[in-house]
Amino acid sequence: MNIIFLGPPGAGKGTQADAISKERGMAHISTGDMLRTAVEVGTPLGLRAMQYMEKGLLVPDELVVDIVAERISKNGQQKSIILDGFPRNLNQAKALDETLKSLSYKLDAVFCFAVSEETAIARLTGRWMCPGCGANYHQKYMPPQQQGKCDKCGKTLQQRPDDNEKTVKERLKVYKKQTADLVNYYEKKSLLRKVNADREVKEVYEEVTKALDLLTREK
Ligand SMILES: [Zn+2]
Repeated sequence: MNIIFLGPPGAGKGTQADAISKERGMAHISTGDMLRTAVEVGTPLGLRAMQYMEKGLLVPDELVVDIVAERISKNGQQKSIILDGFPRNLNQAKALDETLKSLSYKLDAVFCFAVSEETAIARLTGRWMCPGCGANYHQKYMPPQQQGKCDKCGKTLQQRPDDNEKTVKERLKVYKKQTADLVNYYEKKSLLRKVNADREVKEVYEEVTKALDLLTREK
């Protein structure tokens, strides 16, 4: 079972991918995490990506695809995969098809998380992260025990600079523009499954889980 989670920032797809991958023993492949790891570990591809990230530039499609391909090939097929936040555009989607084919992976479904602007803003502007251990919090949905402090390591929590209302609106606009073609592409391949991600995390989780169970049975 190999799936993609598509959705704008604030749709909660990372949270869902995290929970579902753990429960089902799938590999959760998040482009953001992967780029950070490739840079930290200093792989040749990571070093190339770093040259762009340091300048605040977007990492080019071919490079992102190569890093994803490297990660999937390391997975060695023992595990099903959830791709979270990748592909971001039609170019990447087509390159991904080639990569999956060459590694004998089959894509089973693409879950498209739809979320209203209000919900996305509420979710993103309330996020707090620990600079020490990477733990995530939310002032409404997952507050730390002590205001502004990490439960696990006690460090002072931080907000990401782009998690403010104005930037979030801009990010949503960019996302929509980039992904319209992508949604069409997967719809034509009959892989697209729409998820109403405006609801509680638990409800969304149940919807995705049910769809996955159904897919598993169809296989
Ligand atoms: Zn911490």
